[in-house]
Amino acid sequence: MRFDIITIFPDFFAGPFDYGILKRARTTGLVQIETHDLRSFTHDRHRTVDDRPFGGGEGMVLKAQPIYEAMQSLNISPKISRDRSKETVILLSAQGQPFTQSVAHELSATERVVILCGRYEGVDERVNELFCDREISIGDYVLSGGELAAAVVLDAVMRLVPGVLGNEASSEFESFGAGDAAITSSVDVEGVPRSQHGAGGLLDYPHYTRPAEFRGAAVPDVLMGGDHAAVRKWRREQQLRKTLRNRPDLLEGAALSDWDRKVLERLRAEMLS
Ligand code: SAM
Repeated sequence: MRFDIITIFPDFFAGPFDYGILKRARTTGLVQIETHDLRSFTHDRHRTVDDRPFGGGEGMVLKAQPIYEAMQSLNISPKISRDRSKETVILLSAQGQPFTQSVAHELSATERVVILCGRYEGVDERVNELFCDREISIGDYVLSGGELAAAVVLDAVMRLVPGVLGNEASSEFESFGAGDAAITSSVDVEGVPRSQHGAGGLLDYPHYTRPAEFRGAAVPDVLMGGDHAAVRKWRREQQLRKTLRNRPDLLEGAALSDWDRKVLERLRAEMLS
């Protein structure tokens, strides 16, 4: 998979992908990341990429012309004449659609992703209309530029590219992992979902490692007892508890068994008392 990032700060990306699994993904060639300095596509002495907004108002706007030339240099045609199944052009924008794990999954199935990082007040809207397949926001807040957002999107997408994580399945076992329909049909005698997913559309359960006691705080007994069924039950309840407390909105789309629903009822009652 290849990423092309168009930015006025290409050096920004020298660090974020030089660590851990993302570095390994690059060095093994599973993922290629190229940065492109927008200023290289200007033709004036000052290498001007921005100009004042038509209609007045605060700030500056990234001009269409250098971005157009950057797209041309990458062989990216306007979207009406491009095979959009193989390549996707993304504009990072606070006004974009929310970036979620399912968007990351969709993007990870694409051969090439071109990311345009805005700055100042943003990008001339005609660039968006001409080239961009998706306008993506990483959250309801305003950053100074698209570079940090690009790093977030790349990180989340890269780790879903087949082969990047050591264990192919491990992204399925994380928060926001596959909304696992099979989970409801795979329950044990008590109706507890059989899979130890940290997922199924719920948040992950809490994790602990040695020592068993740290400054007076002990690891929950159930994790030390070796009873796998009890561990699975406890973890599932923790997933439900955490999702109910921190992200109740996720419960609507989660794959829940009857056992889950009963636990949720109890947890809701506990919260109210
Ligand atoms: N005037 C814009 C607005 O009010 O929506 C904010 C522009 S912001 C200062 C500059 C650039 O940062 C944007 O063009 C975009 O590329 C990036 N950016 C800011 N917030 C973002 C977010 N939440 N998600 C993705 N990109 C963001």
